[in-house]
Amino acid sequence: MPVQFADRMSTVHRSFIREILKVTQDQSIISFAGGLPNPELFPVADLKAAAVDVMQEAGPQSMQYSTTEGFEPLRQYIADRYKKVKGIDVSADEILITSGSQQCLDLLGKVFLNSGDNVLIERPGYLGAIQSFSMFQSNFLTVGLEEDGPDLTELEKLLNENESKIFYAVTNFQNPSGLTYSPEKRQGVADLLRGRDILFVEDDPYGELRFMGESYQPVVRGYLKENGILLGSFSKVAAPGFRLGWMVCSGEMRDKMIIAKQASDLHTSTFAQRVIHRYVTDNSLDEHIEKIRARYGSQRDVMVKAIEAHFPEEVKVTRPEGGMFLWATLPESMSSMDLFDEAIKNKVAFVPGRPFYVDGSGENTFRLNFSNADEASIEEGIKRLGDGIKDFLSR
Ligand code: PMP
Repeated sequence: MPVQFADRMSTVHRSFIREILKVTQDQSIISFAGGLPNPELFPVADLKAAAVDVMQEAGPQSMQYSTTEGFEPLRQYIADRYKKVKGIDVSADEILITSGSQQCLDLLGKVFLNSGDNVLIERPGYLGAIQSFSMFQSNFLTVGLEEDGPDLTELEKLLNENESKIFYAVTNFQNPSGLTYSPEKRQGVADLLRGRDILFVEDDPYGELRFMGESYQPVVRGYLKENGILLGSFSKVAAPGFRLGWMVCSGEMRDKMIIAKQASDLHTSTFAQRVIHRYVTDNSLDEHIEKIRARYGSQRDVMVKAIEAHFPEEVKVTRPEGGMFLWATLPESMSSMDLFDEAIKNKVAFVPGRPFYVDGSGENTFRLNFSNADEASIEEGIKRLGDGIKDFLSR
């Protein structure tokens, strides 16, 4: 007898990027495909010392079950950091520690989405959110991204003509496009959302990875005082393997999130929370982030320079001031899927853009990651890719 899968499984597919990463396992391929932080920057020695201290000083407690909300001193640290770095008021009670910020997306789906509900996302949008919300059989609406944030005219029309439960956005150095919302767009989004029955979910794993220019306040709490949830993560500023993220929310929303998390995994790893807390207490996270910024900043510069030297003019590429990604747009007639097949033959990889568009557009776009390759490989890989593009254009 065949087993019977739930309906929801028919609409969700394996992550396309994970499939691509399999192809790029070949060591001779220079890969700009993954979205991995650079492992050379993981603070291994300091985390090791923190782990030993936790074991010695709180051995049994660090291995016991703990509260769903998360380790209070860690929540307090995160709240204080919001004040210091972003200038917004958040209390420790409003923070819910999660197993990576990816878990927040699952909890949001559980708490807010019925089958068929509209979810508004960016075009292109974060693949992990598309996958997670799809599990709840949501219907996606998309708003296009311009250089400085969403197209506000399109957003207003979407909001006026449809009822959506959630608007999910990555406002700093977005994955996949690398784009950041300007203060004007932040204000504009807040003005359009204010007074409507829609939840704004602002996901910000990359905000602190700014190499140049000035940073802006989050839309949630900074510009929009109600109906907002802010997501954060230690993945890009410390180490993703700890699976530590968080959600800022209050009141009834928070109560429901706690119920959903209890049902999901009871709580996030007690040990991981204590080790990261010890790490940020005994070390300066600011100094560590400074190192990441310096390294990614120069890797980004090398990639931008190589693109200027090797890509034909017809290819448009974003120039983000932080984060981990650049976004390229080929001439309309070109398919980045076809280019991908060709690029693999030339031993270089990227992620074709189409999976980031739920409406099936974006055929001529692709994402380049600059955080996880050394500078010589970036030079060489971009040259190979540029040669491949020129070949394609001359056909
Ligand atoms: N949101 C965005 C926009 C991301 O790019 C990522 C990581 N790829 C995540 C959430 C998930 O991060 P984590 O679960 O490691 O915190």
